Amino acid sequence: MEWMPSRRRRWFEAPCHLCRLDTLDPDGLCPDCRREWRAALGQPRCRACGLTLAAGDGTAETCAACVGRASPFERVLAAVDLNPPVRALIHRLKYRQDFSVLPLLQATLADAVVADAAAVGVEALVAMPLHSRQRRRRGFNQSWLLAEGVARATGVPLLRHGVRRLRDTGSLTALSASARRATLRGAFVADGALPGRVAIVDDVFTTGASARALASALRRGGVESVAVWALARTP
Ligand SMILES: [Zn+2]
Ligand SMILES: [Zn+2]
Repeated sequence: MEWMPSRRRRWFEAPCHLCRLDTLDPDGLCPDCRREWRAALGQPRCRACGLTLAAGDGTAETCAACVGRASPFERVLAAVDLNPPVRALIHRLKYRQDFSVLPLLQATLADAVVADAAAVGVEALVAMPLHSRQRRRRGFNQSWLLAEGVARATGVPLLRHGVRRLRDTGSLTALSASARRATLRGAFVADGALPGRVAIVDDVFTTGASARALASALRRGGVESVAVWALARTP
């Protein structure tokens, strides 16, 4: 698919999101940085964990570690690995409220999932919820903003109500996998009318503990199939 987040050209030059050289291009990347950005996309990935497939995996759809292992997800799809440029742009959005990078991040995720949206027949998107306190602190939910872009590109509606985060779990990055699971137990509730097939939209997929906890809540709420669409996968 052609890489074209927006057809509008900028009226004025602005610094490239990555190298800060002035550019007129609407996605905010100069030609060199765009080439690099695109090179990181479209790699074959494991359906179950979202990691890039190794050469030894051949034409398999799952990596060696995931073969024969039950997954709570219909599929895990990530647009790109959490490489330094992607990490920097997500950081700018989340912690510096730099919304100029949002169209690029939205387009990157939307382009990666548009084919899957049709193939899987996803009926609704669920943005990974933040706890209300966390949302107030940040002022927005970055996953929600990404999901809005995906909804526009795919035509799949974004659920506005019915899924909540009950507990402010804080940052989970320093916790072990089992500690994450314990912290997240009962953290989400799905109490709205939910369709059978949904996709969770998240900015970063690391151990998948949050997505798993949310998927269990969705299943208790009647959802049959849960996919995960993440902008970036921690390699
Ligand atoms: Zn550049
Ligand atoms: Zn895998």
